[in-house]
Amino acid sequence: QSLANDMDTDAATVTLPQSDERRWSDTSAYARKKILQSWIQLPNGKWELGKILSTSGEESVLSLAEGKVIKVMSETLVPANPDILDGVDDLMQLSYLNEPSVLYNLNYRYNQDMIYTKAGPVLVAVNPFKEVPLYGSRYIEAYRKGSNDSPHVYAIADTAIREMIRDEVNQSIIISGESGAGKTETAKIAMQYLAALGGGSGIEYEILKTNPIIEAFGNAKTLRNDNSSRFGKLTEIHFSETGKISGAQVQTFLLEKSRVVQCAEGERSYHIFYQLCAGASPALREKLNLKSAHEYKYLGQSNCYSINGVDDAERFHTVKEALDIVHVSKEDQESVFAMLAAVLWLGNVSFTVIDNENHVEPVAYESLLTVAKLIGCNSNDLKLSLSKRNMRVGKDTIVQKLTLPQAIDARDALAKSIYSCLFDWLVEQINKSLAVGKRRTGRSISILDIYGFESFDKNSFEQFCINYANERLQQHFNRHLFKLEQEEYIQDGIDWTRVDFEDNQDCLSLFEKKPLGLLSLLDEESTFPNGTDLTLANKLKQHLLSNSCFRGDRGKLFTVVHYAGEVTYETTGFLEKNRDFLHLDSIQLLSSCSCHLPQAFASSMLIQSEKPVVGPLHKAGGADSQRLSVATKFKGQLFQLMQRLGNTTPHFIRCIKPNNVQSPGLYEQGLVLQQLRCCGVLEHLCKGPYNTFLLELVSVAILHQFNILPEMYQVGYTKLFFRTGQIGVLEDTRNRT
Ligand code: ATP
Ligand code: MG
Repeated sequence: QSLANDMDTDAATVTLPQSDERRWSDTSAYARKKILQSWIQLPNGKWELGKILSTSGEESVLSLAEGKVIKVMSETLVPANPDILDGVDDLMQLSYLNEPSVLYNLNYRYNQDMIYTKAGPVLVAVNPFKEVPLYGSRYIEAYRKGSNDSPHVYAIADTAIREMIRDEVNQSIIISGESGAGKTETAKIAMQYLAALGGGSGIEYEILKTNPIIEAFGNAKTLRNDNSSRFGKLTEIHFSETGKISGAQVQTFLLEKSRVVQCAEGERSYHIFYQLCAGASPALREKLNLKSAHEYKYLGQSNCYSINGVDDAERFHTVKEALDIVHVSKEDQESVFAMLAAVLWLGNVSFTVIDNENHVEPVAYESLLTVAKLIGCNSNDLKLSLSKRNMRVGKDTIVQKLTLPQAIDARDALAKSIYSCLFDWLVEQINKSLAVGKRRTGRSISILDIYGFESFDKNSFEQFCINYANERLQQHFNRHLFKLEQEEYIQDGIDWTRVDFEDNQDCLSLFEKKPLGLLSLLDEESTFPNGTDLTLANKLKQHLLSNSCFRGDRGKLFTVVHYAGEVTYETTGFLEKNRDFLHLDSIQLLSSCSCHLPQAFASSMLIQSEKPVVGPLHKAGGADSQRLSVATKFKGQLFQLMQRLGNTTPHFIRCIKPNNVQSPGLYEQGLVLQQLRCCGVLEHLCKGPYNTFLLELVSVAILHQFNILPEMYQVGYTKLFFRTGQIGVLEDTRNRT
């Protein structure tokens, strides 16, 4: 007797299977095929596969692994796919597109090192946390020739090149995912393919060598990722008419400056500091008065100096070689290292109280003298700039002495500014070296490696900016997929006026609306000398409570309803980080330096701008310290980025981190699911007009025979379009007959 017959049995007559013969393992293969499978969610949230033994109105009986049999409410069943669909390489091929089926399929593939899976037009990449044999010239060749068609970053890069040439349209590869998901590695794999196919001029080699440099200065060990990028990056690779690489440009976004002066326990500052301390030659050590990493306060506070499996000294040599390759002269390299040492020594500058009002001045010890020597300024000027500040009040200039917290702030602000200017300067040098020149064809492929949506227990200004950027990118993603769907409908002569289009415009407006949006209000509060984090929070609540994407919470907390979920931000530090104020005294100090880098930094900081500025205006020497707020600058960069991406054909890669411990072979369902939900892949998948279920075979007559109501499908020229859920019904029918 086949178990399938039980399906038709009256509920009342079903006895719970107890004997061994009822066990799944005892059923014949023939029977298995006929049995419907379902997912059930266990109390711990995990999904488990069960065989439906019987269904009666409200309740169903399922057998789980190891012969366990349970009775559940039928409505909680989530249909599972037949075994023949195990491990399909495009999730769209699944008959049942639900969360557990997607999770199972990705897991099934992951266990066999098939880390790439298509989700319709999107490539999903699950981080293997180990070397997988999927890369290198043999694979590149196979994708180039088209002899390998399994999902891969190479395949995406290949499509991008082909479409760039065929359509004469610029392309973009947009990589997202949370920290540690594999974005940066994925970006490098894509570059590797483009360099292999478009190589020849030698410039491709230079482009690849920019990675170790930018990673040394912009990446750090965090609790989430040993090599975490603390900035966003767009690499635009240019091609000649013949499809050869002619140059490249790198743009970076929002470097995390605060890491230079403080980082959490167990994390590190930027790699380059440790590399320099470990790898500098004796001569360089002497020149820079360089000590070991342990002796620098900025590096010592997090109690973490090394990374498992990483040799910082060796990496230092790789970086130096790479700098040679991108034509940074030895002299400039030495200046760069001097700036790094200056930053480290600044952290060691200590202060002493000089009067009974608790004013302080730096102690003129080794640290202060070394900094002055390294940046090329008078040590007394440095001392003054860290103990006093000139303020213009009306027509008069008054001198304010600093208290200890103020002096520490001034010192740290100087260190952060030097470092971030150094980072920008390096990127500029790289861009000069990779410049496309006059014979620019305008054809390019851009690779975007940018931080994904972040939601922690505590969320600050950084998360605020990052999540804002993600809203913008999500809109780009939504609109692109919507366009693809529409095109498909139109091509197939479908007239479906009712189309679901998830848009996040409301949330974007919450950020961008003028004058009453999050960014405008933040900037406004940043210009008030008396503004505090609390007045900011109150102002936001005062003006934004009517917005459905905003919720006020107690004190300094407010919540934004993002597309990927709600995030509660705490305004602590918002104003200071947004102002990112470097005192004019410090800028003037840098411009007075005899070394060329500090001078260049000073002039880059004195951007004359028409736009509104933040921070109390301090006028001195006739020059206004006019600087855009961090949020406004970032918004501008994002607009520019979206404009650039808007003119390209996008290719999306969603990186997924399968566990939080950076270990191979560990696939945590809940974690994966949460990421799939965040990136919006599931929503788009589960809508499914791309599903090509045996279309050639099915005709309207057949549908009719299976009692599929006409309003549940539409017939296109080449495809049938089903309403959500209908394909599953057909699959069930197929399995039962
Ligand atoms: P962040 O946002 O913190 O910069 P990320 O998404 O850029 O994170 P990566 O630095 O690219 O993450 O990846 C983290 C680590 O995962 C890598 O250092 C590497 O060990 C591993 N990894 C990622 N992708 C791969 C891959 N395709 N093959 C092998 N290991 C990988
Ligand atoms: Mg990264």
